[in-house]
Amino acid sequence: MNNAIASKQNLLELDRVGLEDFFERTLDEKRYRAHQVMKWIHHRHVTDFAEMTDLGKALRAKLETHAEVRVPQIQFEKPSADGTHKWLLGMDGSNAIETVYIPDKGRGTLCVSSQVGCALNCQFCSTATQGFNRNLSTAEIIGQVWVAAKHLGNVPHKQRKLTNVVMMGMGEPLMNFDNVVRAMSVMRDDLGYGLANKRVTLSTAGMVPMIDKLGEVSDVSLAVSLHAPNDELRSELVPLNKKYPIAELMAACERYARRKKGESVTFEYTLMKGVNDQPVHAKQLAQLMRRFDNALQMKDAAKVNLIPFNPFPGTRFQRSSEADIRAFQKSLLDAHVLTMVRRTRGDDIDAACGQLKGQVTDKTRRQAEFRKKLEAQGGGKVGEAA
Ligand code: SF4
Repeated sequence: MNNAIASKQNLLELDRVGLEDFFERTLDEKRYRAHQVMKWIHHRHVTDFAEMTDLGKALRAKLETHAEVRVPQIQFEKPSADGTHKWLLGMDGSNAIETVYIPDKGRGTLCVSSQVGCALNCQFCSTATQGFNRNLSTAEIIGQVWVAAKHLGNVPHKQRKLTNVVMMGMGEPLMNFDNVVRAMSVMRDDLGYGLANKRVTLSTAGMVPMIDKLGEVSDVSLAVSLHAPNDELRSELVPLNKKYPIAELMAACERYARRKKGESVTFEYTLMKGVNDQPVHAKQLAQLMRRFDNALQMKDAAKVNLIPFNPFPGTRFQRSSEADIRAFQKSLLDAHVLTMVRRTRGDDIDAACGQLKGQVTDKTRRQAEFRKKLEAQGGGKVGEAA
């Protein structure tokens, strides 16, 4: 056994392979023991090794010495009248992130955050107004699922309350690649939360090279925050577009979808009054989506999610009128583009899409550094409004 362990290993940091390695190399135990512990943590929500009764006393003592299960602390939680539940989870004393559970007919979706704040500065996003602090660790990402699953009494394959996870909360998940991929592996593992690949969705603002990288290691569903059908408008709303314009983004989505027969990509489009909700925008969006279907030679390869904008204090944008939202959807449906309007949920607790805010400190310096790092990877400026 390795006696030179300085601090305890938080087991939430590890996926199945990592945990097996930890058992074998650090604890000098059989790899399958890791499976028992995973079930205790993710199926039964037990964090105290003393309660893991099917492990021998000696192993429990070793675990006490070398490991811990440290879950995020709930600073605040609030149920909404429509069944939505929001948690503010403390991450390190000064920062907190938000996680939201949204129940619907026959499904329960958890919206998970990947960063404290976000550096991409999309103009209509409440999270963006907070700036960026840091990436979340694997433990902090999967810990959000753990907190929700415990609260819901979720038992994978038996009492399934948590049926879908969307990496759509605070942050750009592809800018925190390794930690996000590891956490998604626990979400999909039978010893973790047992979710099918298509029930875990990663939503990106369009980090083109990382979409390709994701395609090499994961089979999760892909969603793209598009929000505008042409480069001029998109560069204004989603500054990352200046680095990865729409044609490059659509080509990356095409490559991602091609890997698996029948794979579709969801395009999210937040409707803002007088900004991107006009008939001309619907027409351009329909063309873009039809081109995607044609390239993949598949009906509904592109799906559109229309999201009525959720105003927040200080924003210059407004929600489109109900009539304009319906007209926009009809225009897309008439062009044979599968288009849904996402019902706004959790309005009364600020948990609707684009409203997650958390508590982010020390934002300015780190956000500037983060942007510099991103720009150093090549291409133009990002994270600043056009
Ligand atoms: S919309 Fe997403 S990528 Fe854009 S600033 Fe907000 S959290 Fe970041």
